[in-house]
Amino acid sequence: MQAEAIFTGTELLLGQIINTNAALLCQELARAGISIFRQVVVGDNLQRIKEAIQEAGKRADIIITCGGLGPTEDDLTREALAEALELPLEENPLAKEHIIRFFTVRGRPMPPQNLKQALFPKGALPLDNPWGTALGIFLKHKDKLYACLPGPPSEFSKMLKEELLPLLEQYGAGKEIILSRVLKITGLGESTVEEKVRDLLKGTNPTLAILAKTGEIHLRITAKACDSQMAQELIKPLEEQIRERLKDHTFGADGDTLEGVVGNLLTRKGLTLAVAESCTGGLLAHRLTNIPGSSAYFRQGVVAYDNNIKVKVLGVNAKILASKGAVSEEVALAMARGVRDLAGTDIGIGITGIAGPGGGTPAKPVGLVYLALNCQGNAQVRRELFQGPREEIKWRATQSALDMLWRHLKGHA
Ligand code: ATP
Ligand code: MG
Repeated sequence: MQAEAIFTGTELLLGQIINTNAALLCQELARAGISIFRQVVVGDNLQRIKEAIQEAGKRADIIITCGGLGPTEDDLTREALAEALELPLEENPLAKEHIIRFFTVRGRPMPPQNLKQALFPKGALPLDNPWGTALGIFLKHKDKLYACLPGPPSEFSKMLKEELLPLLEQYGAGKEIILSRVLKITGLGESTVEEKVRDLLKGTNPTLAILAKTGEIHLRITAKACDSQMAQELIKPLEEQIRERLKDHTFGADGDTLEGVVGNLLTRKGLTLAVAESCTGGLLAHRLTNIPGSSAYFRQGVVAYDNNIKVKVLGVNAKILASKGAVSEEVALAMARGVRDLAGTDIGIGITGIAGPGGGTPAKPVGLVYLALNCQGNAQVRRELFQGPREEIKWRATQSALDMLWRHLKGHA
């Protein structure tokens, strides 16, 4: 069975709220093994909600709406469902009792318009909502299943998991589960990754998808099977094949982050680290210290933004700064060595660059970043030329520093 979802709310169309219910619904449907092929967002408009329900009903077996079940003028989903299916609205005694009880228990008078929430398209069942007046709607109509849930995320989430999904299962939906595994790739661009796995992208079960993130690429393997073990067995050979082809670039999977993987390697090898940052303004230290337990290896971060600080705190040679410029290989190397000496660590990292949007020259354009790593006296340096807005350049610079560190640690005895 295939599902489609309709999210209502002008706030969603205006970008005033994020459609978090969509993410939750898709995750839960995947877990339940129900394929969702399309989702749409419509404003609080009777005609458009009605049309969206009718269109979804032409394609999908399960049509789920979210929002618009409240008592106010702009809550239109129940009317839209009734009109879409040409069914009359009838008062449901159980729903009426629920609404009256909701107000009695709270010792509040019931506004008369709340009784509108007791109206259900003929033949529909109410779905319990312990937290609000809006009961959900469930209706089997001409071989299709229609479900309407309220918009507030806490109510949506609870009713989806505890009411709707078990009902859908009773109606035979979700005999299979969908499982995904995400492999994380560093140090290669999207098209290079694509070239290396192009032939694997044609598979159907499991499927493979490429997702480009800022500074790293994710490869998502998705399998459909009757249980999680079978799905894992389908995923495994493809995962091995990808790992083999991209072995110098696959740093982790699923919830792994580059800073977390680097942190584990530092801990395992008993090495300590300090970083000196200019254009990244402490972002590298921030990312490294986001990892619980980072105090085992992270000693110090210095944000040496001004040239005088580079000289005074990190001991960068003022003459080199003057002759080569702050954004240079020499200064990055001196920063890495300087912070390593200052903190007394095994490893020092130096980053200097131009995050923009101003400050670039033809010789040293915006996005130019030098990164240096000094491990127990052995130094290496990298030159990068990033594109994009300031924050993205900063992020990419830290990503490159972590990539350099990861490669170094993998090779380190
Ligand atoms: P209410 O009784 O609160 O009016 P409702 O079922 O009519 O509930 P809406 O009016 O559509 O639902 O939405 C209520 C609130 O829930 C919105 O103001 C918004 O904050 C939140 N909400 C609605 N839809 C979503 C969504 N798709 N994702 C996240 N939050 C949402
Ligand atoms: Mg509402």
